[in-house]
Amino acid sequence: MTTPVTTSLNPRVRDWTEDELVPGSVRDVVRAPAAVLSTPGGRVDPTAPETVRLAADLVATMRVSPGCVGLAAPQVGEGVQVFCVDVSDHPKARAHHGTFVLCNAEVVSASRNERAREGCMSVPDLTGDVKRASRIVVRGELPGTGESVEVTAEAFEARALQHEIDHCAGLLFLDRVAGAHAVYARQTYL
Ligand SMILES: [Zn+2]
Repeated sequence: MTTPVTTSLNPRVRDWTEDELVPGSVRDVVRAPAAVLSTPGGRVDPTAPETVRLAADLVATMRVSPGCVGLAAPQVGEGVQVFCVDVSDHPKARAHHGTFVLCNAEVVSASRNERAREGCMSVPDLTGDVKRASRIVVRGELPGTGESVEVTAEAFEARALQHEIDHCAGLLFLDRVAGAHAVYARQTYL
């Protein structure tokens, strides 16, 4: 391999698939200003059957939503700290872990701020410029086994993780934009 790889992927997380969970159901995505989106989520037991079901539902809902690179529990109406991400189909993604779900995730370290455009299924009509770290280390627990894992992510995967961790803390990207000048109407392409 000649391309320099600066991120070391966590093989356990990279190889994780939703086959470790129960079959999931597609859920309705709630939109701002639903109260659950602005309320900090509670911690979960990652091994509890309801957490495993929620994790499966999040992945199933992400899968059927075009362009969706992540979904957090508050977006399906559950005020808890669980989210899924999968940036593998996104053109801005570099090295990444594919699909995974984290419970009770927290940012361990963050560096290299970078501004970029973000959208959200819960704020369907707007996008915004948000400054985020482009390299982060996140610690969380896998649903089902409850293993504690640490993920080092960069570029678009790092941004997606911060966006979802914010959801679990009751924050939307609109809470992070520099001001009204950094919010844009989402364009519709026919
Ligand atoms: Zn979102």
